[in-house]
Amino acid sequence: MKKYIWSFACIIVATTAIAKPSKIIHLDFANKNPEISVYEWICKQAKSNLYRKKENVALHMGFQDMHEWEAFKEDFTIDANIKKPDIINHNRYKKRVISTKLKRSIYNFLEYPPVQNCLQIIDIINEYNTASNIKKIIVETECFGTIEFRAARIIDEHNLDSYLDCNCGEIALKNNRYIIFLDPIKIYHWELSNNMIEALIGHEIGHILHDDKFNEYLILDFYNQKTGTYNIINSPLFVNYKKACEVAADIVGTFGNPKWIHEWINYCKLIDTDTPEDSNSSHPTGKQRAKYLQEIYKNIAHAP
Ligand SMILES: [Zn+2]
Repeated sequence: MKKYIWSFACIIVATTAIAKPSKIIHLDFANKNPEISVYEWICKQAKSNLYRKKENVALHMGFQDMHEWEAFKEDFTIDANIKKPDIINHNRYKKRVISTKLKRSIYNFLEYPPVQNCLQIIDIINEYNTASNIKKIIVETECFGTIEFRAARIIDEHNLDSYLDCNCGEIALKNNRYIIFLDPIKIYHWELSNNMIEALIGHEIGHILHDDKFNEYLILDFYNQKTGTYNIINSPLFVNYKKACEVAADIVGTFGNPKWIHEWINYCKLIDTDTPEDSNSSHPTGKQRAKYLQEIYKNIAHAP
């Protein structure tokens, strides 16, 4: 009888272990340094999580350590010839003009003092198509160079059926300049509030703060030069790294603003189409994202 109980217990332990995916990020609030703010703490945790995942990829690619990686990065320029359609697809963004609503959200976001502090904005210029149609908003920053905002229909040509399920915003890197694309059709479809759009912009800025696209191209180009393929895209190490990029952008991109955290939780739930089995996706599931964001919200809201 004892034996049966024991094996029954083992089955329960084993199935819980399988059903429960490992925590996507450990925020470790119990050990938070009281000297620093909640926001500083979560950024630190997100950064070291991202660093570990990047290190795993770097070692897998044959780098001895991260010093070697940094030295390689220093000399790396993005090869304009990266041809794989998924990587740089010039048809991906169908131009739209920036609406008054979008413009207001972009300006509201940029005016938030912690954003100003972080980016050190020098100038904001509206570039017009015609007298009244804004083509792009160009933001000159001290810390991250020039960042462009554009409106576009973001189309994944391989996945047309799920057009509306995909992200409402995206980051691209062209000629060493970061561009944030916002999709007005998806924003309208999902009825995103102004606060939600601001949170979305925060997430995309979060990717810029960690130079995610540049690092991604570096990995893909390096791997392609070595093997002639981009197969690393499907490796679990790379997928985990991409997920860590999303987690870090979610966290850093809140700029500690409770309103944006709250709205970003709602957004993540709203556009969550990933099934739990979809471990190959480059994004954590909306449920996973909502979970760590809720933990952050609780701590920020209760901070002295
Ligand atoms: Zn993202």
